[in-house]
Amino acid sequence: MSSDCLFCKIVRREIPAKIAFEDDQVLGFYDIQPSAPVHILFVPKKHLDSVMQATVEEPVVSLLSDRAVKTAEKLGLQPTGFRLLINYGPHAGQTVHHLHLHLLGGAQLSHL
Ligand code: 5GP
Ligand code: ZN
Repeated sequence: MSSDCLFCKIVRREIPAKIAFEDDQVLGFYDIQPSAPVHILFVPKKHLDSVMQATVEEPVVSLLSDRAVKTAEKLGLQPTGFRLLINYGPHAGQTVHHLHLHLLGGAQLSHL
């Protein structure tokens, strides 16, 4: 946990967010500025700055993608498809320095 991290504050419920998924390790909440009809961010409850801290010893990306895929299925996105995305660093435009996986869907997405 990091005291001044935005997503840690959401995990601690100090800042409100619309929750889509929760278990003991992962929180999924709707993005405040959605880029698609469904745009959910999956974060580990334990603070990690970025995907650079996700290692074989810390297999957190598979944890986040598992929860994102299950949520996508629950929301009915599986037949039409969805996108999972992680930004790292300035070239990718990472703005919040707590690891998060974007789940995007609900409409045709622009091709990367
Ligand atoms: P990044 O650009 O770092 O990959 O993604 C950060 C995401 O966090 C952005 O899509 C942004 O809209 C979202 N975001 C920033 N501040 C908040 C907030 O206070 N609440 C929620 N729910 N999302 C936020
Ligand atoms: Zn954090």
